[in-house]
Amino acid sequence: MYSGPTYLDRDGYYRFKSNNRLVHREVAYNEIYLPNRQSYKLPFADYIAHHKNQNKKDNRKKNLELLTETEHKRLHQRLRNSQMRRKPIVARILYDVFVK
Ligand SMILES: [Zn+2]
Repeated sequence: MYSGPTYLDRDGYYRFKSNNRLVHREVAYNEIYLPNRQSYKLPFADYIAHHKNQNKKDNRKKNLELLTETEHKRLHQRLRNSQMRRKPIVARILYDVFVK
């Protein structure tokens, strides 16, 4: 059962007051993982529930996607790269020097 009052944690994720569980993981477990059990070979704990539109507060089923850690890292790398291409050249150089 996953419902009831929630609060926003320090990382910007909603959690249930009753058990401190992350709402997006509960939704992903009950509405994606369990109903499609045969598509997911790993235990649920091994999956990351990714927010497709990058809004951590949008926990609708259609905004969530279960990915392995490797898939998730790769996806975020791609997202970072495409966001970087839209930034001015100075920002890109600073990123290359200090972040990469
Ligand atoms: Zn993600």
